[in-house]
Amino acid sequence: MARKDFETTDHPYGESVGSLINEFAKLPGIGRKSAERLAHHVLSKPAEEVTGLSDAIRQVKESIRFCAVCFNLTEEELCAICRDSRRNRQVVCVVEQPRDIVSLEAAGVYEGVYHVLGGALAPLSGIGPEQLRIEPLLRRIREQGVSEVVMATNPTLEGDGTALYLSNLMDNLNVQITRLARGIASGSVLEFANREMLADAMRGRQQF
Ligand SMILES: [Zn+2]
Repeated sequence: MARKDFETTDHPYGESVGSLINEFAKLPGIGRKSAERLAHHVLSKPAEEVTGLSDAIRQVKESIRFCAVCFNLTEEELCAICRDSRRNRQVVCVVEQPRDIVSLEAAGVYEGVYHVLGGALAPLSGIGPEQLRIEPLLRRIREQGVSEVVMATNPTLEGDGTALYLSNLMDNLNVQITRLARGIASGSVLEFANREMLADAMRGRQQF
């Protein structure tokens, strides 16, 4: 990209500042101006403080992995929810991303476990069933006596399409399929829905 090349090679302070700005600018919600402000913040701080930030980033990438059962993020073999013996393993809530689990857990009404698909079907962007964790979900249902699958994909075109696709696959699996109640605005994402809304959507879930 032209802008990137310009910033990296021609920054008045030198190349390393240019590339730091580029890295910040890749973060979600960070525009060019904010990236520059963050870079100046880093430049103004003592080395120990800045090293703390870079260490924390490296640490999280080294220690965080996917839960072996549900693909939530965790520092251990199993995530905290899968390790919790009080959770009902007969009910599996299907979400697109680990951050959706954080939102649903904050709502505080769900007692089952989760399954993270890793996205939603989006044929136009090249995301087909084989890119999602569908096979491990079907295996869980078949092998672990799951009685209910709660579809909590985002209420978007892709999320709805994914829920429909999955429910067709589960047709012959002798499992009840439900969907979060429609309180969350269509086209929005779970991540940004507020707690009460998610709690209501979970309590009021309906047969798919
Ligand atoms: Zn887990």
